[in-house]
Amino acid sequence: MTAVAFLRPEFVESFPPEMTHGVLYVSIPYATCGHLCACGCGQEIVTPLSPAQWALTYDGQNVSLRPSIGNWGLPCYSHYWIKEGAVRWSRRYTADEIADNRARDRRDLREHLDQDRPGPISKMIRRLWP
Ligand SMILES: [Zn+2]
Repeated sequence: MTAVAFLRPEFVESFPPEMTHGVLYVSIPYATCGHLCACGCGQEIVTPLSPAQWALTYDGQNVSLRPSIGNWGLPCYSHYWIKEGAVRWSRRYTADEIADNRARDRRDLREHLDQDRPGPISKMIRRLWP
C-alpha cells in the first residue's frame, strides 16, 4: 500500500473487520475514529474522541481530527494532521519530544478521567489550537 493524501469519512456504528485504506471510520456511538495509517504501512490507528484525546470536526463533507496523529508506537513513526480530509504530513518527532508527548497525553487523560469534566480553559485552548 502507498501513502494516501486524503481520508474519506465513513460513519459507522462499529469498525469493519478489515479497514479500507483511505477511509476514516467514525463511530459516534463508541466516540472513536479508526483508519489505516496514512503512510500505507497497514497498521490500524484508533483515535478515541474525548476532551483529553481527539476532537472531531465534520463540515458536512469531510472531517478534521485534532490534535495530530503521532504514531510513535509504530515502526513507521508517522506523524500527520487530518484537516478537512487531507493528510498533512508533519515532521517526525525526536525521541525526547515523543517522551514528552506521551507523558502529556497520560497526564491529560488521567486528569480527564479523574474529574470527568472539562479541564482548565487554557488546556482546552491548547487542545483546540495546538
Ligand atoms: Zn504507518
